[in-house]
Amino acid sequence: MKLLALRCPECAQPLKPQNQEVIVLRCGCGTAVSFQYSGLATFPLQFAASAVEKFDAWLPLWIFNGRVHITSRQTQGRNKQAEQDAEQLWNYPRRLYVPAWELPTEAASQLGGDLVQRQPTFERVSQPDTTQPFIEAVVTQEDALKLMEFVVLNVEAARQDWLKDLQFHIEATTPQLWAIPAQKDGSGWRMQPVLK
Ligand SMILES: [Zn+2]
Repeated sequence: MKLLALRCPECAQPLKPQNQEVIVLRCGCGTAVSFQYSGLATFPLQFAASAVEKFDAWLPLWIFNGRVHITSRQTQGRNKQAEQDAEQLWNYPRRLYVPAWELPTEAASQLGGDLVQRQPTFERVSQPDTTQPFIEAVVTQEDALKLMEFVVLNVEAARQDWLKDLQFHIEATTPQLWAIPAQKDGSGWRMQPVLK
């Protein structure tokens, strides 16, 4: 067994992850650090511009470009609108989103589905505010791609035509990790209304 010294690769400060499953966190010096079996490394994290001056934290969100190929969609009921909506949504390359902070799968797929239907774009800021904490990312890139399947299923199952069976595959680029400004909302978080 190799003992990892949990120190920032940039400034050598000790790092104290809040979550055992941590994948990416931000050091006090502002550097994003990824935790891998091979050790710690700096990680390219993109920060999104905030629409308001005051927010509570940065939330990690995987964003990738992709195309969902639906090969078969079987339903109990027939609903032309639902069929058309499904085609409209998946017939084109899309931005796909998967929350990377700790969330139950159900809530994560719900939120991912909401985002994929709204297609928000984020403006990148190069000098992000470091006064707000960055909530640790606990979802790996590989798991983000797997979770995306739940997102697609969730969106399709919510349509008005009682989905029975869905066959599809996802073609996607490597996800990028973004930090999105968020407000505290009860015990959870609410992402800011999106900047266009
Ligand atoms: Zn550091």
